[in-house]
Amino acid sequence: MRLKIQPINKPVKDYDKEKREYEALLAKLPPELLAQHREREAEERAEYEAKHEREIAERDLRFGAWLEARGLDEPAEDDLETPARFCTDEDVDAARRRGLVAAAVEPVSINAFELWLIWGPNYQDSGPFAKCEKAARLRLPLAIGEGSITLVIESEKVRSSGYEGVFTHLVSRMPFEGTIDGEYVTGALVQVISDMELFRIELSQGSQEIADKLARYFDRLFAEINLPEDLSAILAPSKRCFACGRPLDDPISKALWIGPTCAKNLGVPHNSEAVRIIAEKRRTFICDAGRSPDVAQFFD
Ligand SMILES: [Zn+2]
Repeated sequence: MRLKIQPINKPVKDYDKEKREYEALLAKLPPELLAQHREREAEERAEYEAKHEREIAERDLRFGAWLEARGLDEPAEDDLETPARFCTDEDVDAARRRGLVAAAVEPVSINAFELWLIWGPNYQDSGPFAKCEKAARLRLPLAIGEGSITLVIESEKVRSSGYEGVFTHLVSRMPFEGTIDGEYVTGALVQVISDMELFRIELSQGSQEIADKLARYFDRLFAEINLPEDLSAILAPSKRCFACGRPLDDPISKALWIGPTCAKNLGVPHNSEAVRIIAEKRRTFICDAGRSPDVAQFFD
């Protein structure tokens, strides 16, 4: 195993440029055609707005019923949690209608990944995804219960008039695949509401039990994890350094799955105290997700 930020060829998303190019194309049309086009555009917009209003009204009705069924009053204006929970329930229903298995829990936040991969410790866009000039991909083999899944995190580069220069963000769908407790599982972490860092678990293959176990695992992980320090606590066991892929020889490196030089480069502790802390965290993250693997096996 070796963790690697893999640059990918995906063009920078430039919303303003797309709009300018479209307008330049329209400017070439003869006046009559342009007038027709504008008319059609206005009709389509009016239709879209009417549809949008109908959807909002319908959603409000469902939200009212949802609150009533739970004996809740209207949420306070600054209460993000109640609508977020409602949206999750709605999304879970929608996923089930599409034949997918969705975890019936509150959505999980992925801030820990963004902090590590994009913002960096001082929130200065110093994370490896932000420093990579291109969009990038990272495959993370995560240990969960008795098994592991590989989560694929991808970034994209965006240019928009609201910001100076190009910025980086994580794409709103993170696919994963693996085997947990002997069951093959494939699915994704899917963003619930845009502009809110909340994701739900959606499986295209796997049982409800595994979906809920994954949700508990990620919930705990994102609430408590501190990256990159805790990488050794969440990654699948490896006999090679997870940063460079070289074989490991001393006992501390073998317990942490990373050599001293790579640990120094990543800025993570590499001593017997770190081994004790990581072992404790492995118990929390990996084992509490379900049946407990024998943690001692990792130290052979
Ligand atoms: Zn290494």
